[in-house]
Amino acid sequence: MARSHHIDSLNIVMAASEAVPYVKTGGLADVAGALPVELAKLGHTVTLIVPRYRSFQTGGRSLREIGTIRVRTAKGLVDATLGEDLIPVGGGGRSVRVVAVRYDPYFDRAGLYQGPDGDFSDNLARFAFFSRAIVEVLAYLRSSLGEPISVLHLHDWQTALAAVYLKTTERDRALVGDVRTLLTLHNVGYQGIFPGSQFSETGLPTDLFTPAGLEFYGSVNLLKGGILFADKVSTVSPTYAKEIMSSDGGFGLEGVLAGRRDDVVGIINGIDVGSWDPETDSHLAANYSRTDLSGKAVCKKALQRELGLPNRDVPLIGVIGRLTSQKGFDLLAEIIPELMAVGVQVAILGTGDRILEDRFQSAKERYPQQIGVSLKFDEGRAHRIEAGADMLVMPSRYEPCGLTQLYSLRYGTIPIVRKTGGLADTVIPYRPSTALAGDATGFQFEGVSADSLLATILLALKVYADRKAWASIQQAGMGVDCSWECSAKRYVEEYGKLRGER
Ligand code: ADP
Repeated sequence: MARSHHIDSLNIVMAASEAVPYVKTGGLADVAGALPVELAKLGHTVTLIVPRYRSFQTGGRSLREIGTIRVRTAKGLVDATLGEDLIPVGGGGRSVRVVAVRYDPYFDRAGLYQGPDGDFSDNLARFAFFSRAIVEVLAYLRSSLGEPISVLHLHDWQTALAAVYLKTTERDRALVGDVRTLLTLHNVGYQGIFPGSQFSETGLPTDLFTPAGLEFYGSVNLLKGGILFADKVSTVSPTYAKEIMSSDGGFGLEGVLAGRRDDVVGIINGIDVGSWDPETDSHLAANYSRTDLSGKAVCKKALQRELGLPNRDVPLIGVIGRLTSQKGFDLLAEIIPELMAVGVQVAILGTGDRILEDRFQSAKERYPQQIGVSLKFDEGRAHRIEAGADMLVMPSRYEPCGLTQLYSLRYGTIPIVRKTGGLADTVIPYRPSTALAGDATGFQFEGVSADSLLATILLALKVYADRKAWASIQQAGMGVDCSWECSAKRYVEEYGKLRGER
């Protein structure tokens, strides 16, 4: 075993534009909500900084006002108030401190990033403000805590500028200039790109608006700035970390990321093992566990009933997710006739592109005995498909981490995934060698083509017919640890390295 140096209790400050349970539009909020709690459980001190939006859910508690910060903007100095909430962690009186930055002109709006007419036109100014506020909160914490801050952990383009300020305009400032940063990229497809004419809103010197700085083909690119100036960059899986350095995966930032190659790491997200547990899941018709899977058959029958499908003993394939080109469900739509011909049933749950929604809807009308389609967001049904299906298909073109395949592993539902990003890292593909060793947890295909997907589903169906082989794959998957504790420990290692380099 490698010798690991002892890491004592760290003082971690995290900042994100959304976090569960306060406000959520996507997966970022799950990470920003779960990771701090897990870090605190490991014994670290954690402060999470978020903007106080109109939709900010305080769960009935009132935020305690702890102070005011003065933030520089392109229009001059403004005051923002800081509200504090304490999230209890475990039994021992530990907590995560949440600091909500309140500045109503920017955050008291109906949406987080967009209104009915699309993205807010002042998003650059809003998140430059939030990034500067993060630096001011650091200074506030530093002077009120009187202890050094071990690391500032930033997420996505909305907070990326904080890393830039710390290395440029704030570099020589006492209390904050030496704070080291980690920037996590959750999806490089979203970069925070704004017209070049808005660069002055950042308050950065104009010599940073060049191709070697934040300029991106004439526009301002906030994520690019973060990648250039953060001390370390992470993404949500090791394979995605490699893919974003290549021309297919980097959305134009592959060169910038490759330039930081030695400072880029991939750390898989955890899942909420409390709410996604087949043993206790209250959405299910029956509960089951790795040692007794009998309840899974009950869940399958119940799912067939729920979707209006006949109770047949045929393989049932689940599909859950955004119906977009990223997710590759168009490949599945192409092979519906072939799948119907071999007699399987398919349960589809998702919303997204109109064309794809229509294709699945008409497939259901054509094959009512074999296809169930729900074009809506339905948390309970997502749980029931995870439990009731035999396999789950994720043909993603790219997938930074992916959660649905992790739920599937835990629910004994075999994932059939494209070999990309987090899917490549979390599913051990069925091969003669992995099958023999009892390691295989699912099936993988490589090419972005309907033919590869079909061939792999047909292979899975063949293995499915061998009940013993299938049970072995289920057992391996259900034994995988997808907890946040696992991920949190990896982040702590990276924080420790950053601190060591100071
Ligand atoms: P992404 O964040 O790219 O959409 P992930 O696999 O990381 O993909 O996470 C998607 C999450 O959203 C999962 O928890 C999945 O169960 C859930 N989800 C997606 N679509 C639906 C839907 N129509 N109904 C219920 N849950 C959904």
